[in-house]
Amino acid sequence: MLKGEVASEGIGIGRAKLIISESKIIHKQTIRNSGDEIQRFHEALSETIKDTERIISKAEETEKEIMTAYLMIMQDVNLANKIENLIKFSNYCAEYAVEKEFDSIFKDILNIDDEYMKARTEDIVDIKNNIITKLQKTNDNEIIEIKPNTIIVTNELTLSDIAKLNLNNISGIITEKGNTNSHSSIVARVHSIPVVIGVKNATKIIKEKDHIAIDGETGEVHININKNDEQKLLDKKNRKQQEQKELEKYKNTHTKTKDGYEIKITLNIGELSELRSLEKGISEGIGLFRSELLYLNKNEMPTEEEQFLIYKEIAENPDIKHVIIRTLDIGGDKQLKWLKLEKEENPFLGNRGIRLCLSNLILFKTQLKAILRASYYGQLLIMFPMISCIEELRKAKQVVEECKNELSLENIHYNKEIKIGVMIEVPSAVLISNGLAKECDFFSIGTNDLIQYTTATERGNGKVSELYNKYHPAVINLIKQTIEAAKCSKIPCSMCGEAASDELLLPILIGLGLDEISINPNNVLKVKKIISKLEKEKCTKLVEKILNLYSAREVERILKEFIEMI
Ligand code: PEP
Ligand code: MG
Repeated sequence: MLKGEVASEGIGIGRAKLIISESKIIHKQTIRNSGDEIQRFHEALSETIKDTERIISKAEETEKEIMTAYLMIMQDVNLANKIENLIKFSNYCAEYAVEKEFDSIFKDILNIDDEYMKARTEDIVDIKNNIITKLQKTNDNEIIEIKPNTIIVTNELTLSDIAKLNLNNISGIITEKGNTNSHSSIVARVHSIPVVIGVKNATKIIKEKDHIAIDGETGEVHININKNDEQKLLDKKNRKQQEQKELEKYKNTHTKTKDGYEIKITLNIGELSELRSLEKGISEGIGLFRSELLYLNKNEMPTEEEQFLIYKEIAENPDIKHVIIRTLDIGGDKQLKWLKLEKEENPFLGNRGIRLCLSNLILFKTQLKAILRASYYGQLLIMFPMISCIEELRKAKQVVEECKNELSLENIHYNKEIKIGVMIEVPSAVLISNGLAKECDFFSIGTNDLIQYTTATERGNGKVSELYNKYHPAVINLIKQTIEAAKCSKIPCSMCGEAASDELLLPILIGLGLDEISINPNNVLKVKKIISKLEKEKCTKLVEKILNLYSAREVERILKEFIEMI
């Protein structure tokens, strides 16, 4: 049995499918017919060359230069000859011959006393991977075929990897790396797929098609489980389903504490399909529409018209009264294939969220115009991610104004009074929240990032996951300050980070007087039940006690005691 940390609860049983991302695993294989193998290599090489030429024809200057240099390396007859010789004389398979030849190129480069050349090794890896990908016929854009009841076993699952999978057929995910707050874990939770992360050597121990059972409560992973243990897990699964059924009575009810304090619950949604399959009576609004997830698996930027049709469908949904569309939040652990971003040393501190949109106005305005046009058909609100200073808010609002003016000139309808909000997810935004509140219509606290930036722990990095702590008193104080600033300017304040559905934190949020929480649809009924057992007055007293603490562990202990008493 293996063990890891639970990133998404549930019991999952199925056959293992290994997906090794990042570096491609190449086995040393010998071949019989070197002629066929050489032909296979040349086919892969010329396909890669064609792809590169295609990219060059559309690329901007800097990218064009890099890609042209790639092209020259690939067209170098010497390189092809050396690889051919490795296949012919050592009987290596084409993949291994490519890997070997590039290895020797790296060694040569690393021996050169020139920093610029050394920095080029990354580009060489790219070329090598492109050729090997072609050889393995696993194009990056390809949707990976997943049979029903599959357990994905991988070293690391990025958000773009997840976008390639048919989630309906996945019964569970096991990863070696990762963090419960990475975007891929969040997406898995939304889809109720059990996930266990940090399972050491999972891809080495588990074999393709092994019969795997995941206990997404304890973090245990059973390989080729016996019938008896499997039955125990199935019984546990049934019990959980029964508990879920009992929660049905909270559907269509107002979310109130025992003493009548109301808090609004809205939903976090990432894809149109989630919105289409929403059950009625769960919630009236969407508090966070992660718009970037719509564009993850595209090959080019979606046009304004394409985006407009999506937002219009969202706006016209009769069961949903209002939808907060968060503008593109790309960068960090979210990359778009069609947007070739420069590699950054610290992507989470780099060109992310609103920064990226403000530095790429075509991208930003295309999305804003699509949202504005759709706002004519229903209650849409705009929310900017990653605001860290007031100038960003002002600039972003000015771009909205420009878009409005351009639409007006073309006589295109939009909601002139569309509300604009800010995600509070950077500590500097909290510290100027009094000012921000005066210049926007609502706040939504993004705890996933707020915790990351407050505690200086990367949210997807398993090595620091213990320090990434939602109960840290600093985080609680920042939440308090944000809510107070919103109250002072009489604007609503919501929370859309994962902490908003945390059983232990809910009394604190109620005690602090938060207006709204935006959470994953599958958590709504459970959260309603917890809130119905709370009393506002007791929660307020609890906050007073918590605010005097300096240790996250202490906070967690007191919150646990409190919840056990209700
Ligand atoms: C957050 O940071 O809390 C948030 C809701 O946004 P995301 O997880 O998409 O960064
Ligand atoms: Mg965020």
